[in-house]
Amino acid sequence: MATPKSVTVKKNAGAAKGQAEVLFASAAVERLEAKATLPAKFLRMLDRLPMKRVCGGATVAVKIHVGGHFGFTTIPPLFVRLLIEKIKAAGAKNVFVTDGSYSVGEATARGYTAEVLGAPLVGAAGVKDKFFYRHKIGYKTLKEVEIAGNVEDADALVNLSHFKGHGDCAYGAACKNLAMGCVTQKSRGWLHQLEGGLLYNEKLCVRCKKCVEACTRQAAQWNAERNRLEIFYHNCVYCRHCVLACPKDAIKISGGGFIPFQHGLALAAREVLRTFEPGRTLHITFLTQITVYCDCWGFSTPALIPDVGIVASEDIAAVEKASLDLTRDGDPLPGSLPPGRKLVEGKHLFERIHGKDPYVQIDRLEAVGLGTGRYKLVEIK
Ligand code: SF4
Ligand code: SF4
Repeated sequence: MATPKSVTVKKNAGAAKGQAEVLFASAAVERLEAKATLPAKFLRMLDRLPMKRVCGGATVAVKIHVGGHFGFTTIPPLFVRLLIEKIKAAGAKNVFVTDGSYSVGEATARGYTAEVLGAPLVGAAGVKDKFFYRHKIGYKTLKEVEIAGNVEDADALVNLSHFKGHGDCAYGAACKNLAMGCVTQKSRGWLHQLEGGLLYNEKLCVRCKKCVEACTRQAAQWNAERNRLEIFYHNCVYCRHCVLACPKDAIKISGGGFIPFQHGLALAAREVLRTFEPGRTLHITFLTQITVYCDCWGFSTPALIPDVGIVASEDIAAVEKASLDLTRDGDPLPGSLPPGRKLVEGKHLFERIHGKDPYVQIDRLEAVGLGTGRYKLVEIK
């Protein structure tokens, strides 16, 4: 295991004291010419970022999520190629694109090939998800995480994430791309074990299943084999309908809910970032083709809102906060939600969809020392 280094988030010039600078390239096209479109703005954004300092002389890992099966709303290979060209031009010794070991095999079908990207696509933890380094965590049930060996062995990291919804934590983007995407499959399971929020007392339960009937989200599910209630937290919005329906007080809200999961994500992301020297990481998030669920589902649904653009920063909390702020308001486009899905109360679109406050993630990132939610947005024209 590599010795963890302290995480230093470099603040770019231009932001006020205590603020991080976040670059923003809008998807809006003001003139009908190529240089006014998103790929051209992306190139100008990369020119504004400290690519030489981050990538110069380094073996650079570009972490993306290639999705699966029929998913087509991940980051288009064109943008990855443009980034790889800039990384090479910045003097990188070596560059590779990486994702979970079990995701990269079939990514060719969706255009993620070495020929298109300009760099090889490798499994983050080797061919069989068995190349990793153990890092102690010691938070609740999350004793440790296994950091993918190819990520930890790299000298620099470009965290290239796609912003979308997620049932377990409202959304997924930069933090989740590291916390869930740069660890082994086994570690992802350990992280999911942090989910919770409802306490079920099997001894009080009379098996009437009124809780299952009361749940409109298919989160309260009956395990026929074990003859007991089980909660699928991905779908749960903590509405308490099951609690109120229970005639025996066998279900209680325990408080916290999804927050330990988000805290676990922040801790895992910190562990990934600790394997890099200060100033050797960048976070770039695509706010395009934003769908209700994660890219790992193996299919894509229509975009919830019109494309917003791309944000980039050296500060992971700032890039996440800017992503949330830029997507907070408005209603989902017709046909973009699963059939029958009703919105609940919340201050962000994804809270109204998934019932979990996405801003908790910013709070958790700040709590573990990963940057600041205070940022200055600088638009790239
Ligand atoms: S709290 Fe609401 S969404 Fe969650 S399991 Fe109970 S009824 Fe279903
Ligand atoms: S409503 Fe209460 S008693 Fe009835 S099955 Fe659910 S938990 Fe058990």
